[in-house]
Amino acid sequence: MDYPGNLFVVAAPSGAGKSSLVKALLELDSHLVVSVSHTTRAPRGQEQDGREYFFISEPAFRAKIAAGDFFEWAEVHGNLYGTSRQAIEERIAGGHDVVLEIDWQGALQIKKLFPNAILIFILPPSWEELAQRLNRRGEDHPDVIDQRLTNARVEVAQARHFDFVIINALFETALFDLKAIVHSQRLKYAALQRSKPAVFANLNLN
Ligand code: 5GP
Repeated sequence: MDYPGNLFVVAAPSGAGKSSLVKALLELDSHLVVSVSHTTRAPRGQEQDGREYFFISEPAFRAKIAAGDFFEWAEVHGNLYGTSRQAIEERIAGGHDVVLEIDWQGALQIKKLFPNAILIFILPPSWEELAQRLNRRGEDHPDVIDQRLTNARVEVAQARHFDFVIINALFETALFDLKAIVHSQRLKYAALQRSKPAVFANLNLN
């Protein structure tokens, strides 16, 4: 599918700093939009329906799967998460660059559907640092944190399948890396050909 917009998919184990990095990137780059996923998990802290996620029941989620509303969906930490087909298609067809913050299973499904999608994996600098960040966040029960650390072992092993890997030791450096990936993707011939068809036509390039 030759859409004018780019699709960036960011995955990471929980606590690696993915959400903060994506949030900072979006504040700096008005051409990027984030896709809001659907989930069956309960809202945490200050989360609002329609902002962080669309929070829906499991039967409603299953109905959406049956209706083909999701590009991809996955069970993560015991809850269901899915990316809405319509939201993404509309945005990249409209020339926006879209960022998906999803788990590695969803990322690999997206790459099959959109071979042009750029997969970015964020790694923590060490297991010790990841455990500290999850504890410091103070949002989850200790059992949940243990589960997330166990899952992180499986998740981190998937980094090899991604196009780019960022080690988030220092936030500013990781943000710089993320900006560099987004920027260089936009400068690829095929991406420019899709995003700037008028220039290419004028220069008789195809
Ligand atoms: P959390 O519950 O901490 O917000 O998210 C748990 C995990 O689910 C994170 O890795 C997050 O990126 C992932 N996730 C969020 N939305 C989606 C989605 O639409 N699809 C998939 N496959 N994973 C998602």
